[in-house]
Amino acid sequence: MSLAIVEERQRSVSHPGLSELIELERVIADGARDLDASVICEVAVGGRRFPVHAVTLGNPSTEVPAVGFFGGVHGLERIGSAVVIAYLRSLVMRLRWDDTLHRLLESLRLVFVPLVNPGGMWRGTRANPGGVDLMRNAPVDAIERVPFLIGGQRISAGLPWYRGAENAAMETESAALCRVVEEELLARPISIALDCHSGFGVLDRIWFPYAHTAEPIEHLPEMHALKTIFEQTYCNHRYVIEPQSRQYLAHGDLWDYLYLRACAGPGRIFLPLTLEMGSWLWVKKNPRQLFSRDGIFNPSVAHRQQRVLRRHLSFLDFLARSAASYRRWMPSEADRPQCRTRALALWYPGRER
Ligand SMILES: [Zn+2]
Repeated sequence: MSLAIVEERQRSVSHPGLSELIELERVIADGARDLDASVICEVAVGGRRFPVHAVTLGNPSTEVPAVGFFGGVHGLERIGSAVVIAYLRSLVMRLRWDDTLHRLLESLRLVFVPLVNPGGMWRGTRANPGGVDLMRNAPVDAIERVPFLIGGQRISAGLPWYRGAENAAMETESAALCRVVEEELLARPISIALDCHSGFGVLDRIWFPYAHTAEPIEHLPEMHALKTIFEQTYCNHRYVIEPQSRQYLAHGDLWDYLYLRACAGPGRIFLPLTLEMGSWLWVKKNPRQLFSRDGIFNPSVAHRQQRVLRRHLSFLDFLARSAASYRRWMPSEADRPQCRTRALALWYPGRER
């Protein structure tokens, strides 16, 4: 029996029911020549231990820009992990023949944590095995009123959107994610993050901070410039790009927390994005899905899953290319005020000054 077959058997024995983790480890093995992989933490659940893998590619110099791709923060949203792993696989395969990708990676760092919450995914829960919603777990409180429960709560781990106990350390998974972001993204002058989720509404949305306040972020001009070049390049795209605060406010948002950390360092630009794949349409087309194991958070029909994976890969690739070429599109100091006014008119009408 070949070594590859032995390894494949080991993967399915150690991660039963976690097809995303099995596929991720397959990709890591296939890409061993071009990538570095590490286990950033381990999660114990039901007598098992699951690794949280981080994968890095490209130039390790802290002078070059970086993009981080994250998925599976919520255990129910398997499609988020699937999108990130599909992009990583396509890079690994392209590195075997594509000179332009090798050249791109000379001026870019890429970081992947495709399955942040394997314990939750294994159990089929949004929260981690401790009952904590990792996306409500950061030490940042909303300044304004948040919606009951969904905005984050400390009543009980038995209810959804639990933030964790007051003054407790962050959960293992969220602390590990923050470490990777600080070391790989915030250590660089320019970085972008994309965290892939599913489940909100019928449209695909790309959200940026803040979630803890309705105030605009400092780097609104850069966010607007990124949106502009994306729309000019992909004029048929179907994303709604907006600050999360336009939909609802929440406590404990990891990306608000990390964005604020980034702003504490001088001259650093960090643009964190969350992709919220609208899943309600998948359910409308197939109402039986309401009762399936994957519920409303994942496409349940193979062709729909393929379409979702196809649709988003170009956005992930766009982020890699735009980060590498940031000098060509980020507004200059002189252009920032005008860019900001335009962004305020679009996203914060009535506050243009
Ligand atoms: Zn989510």
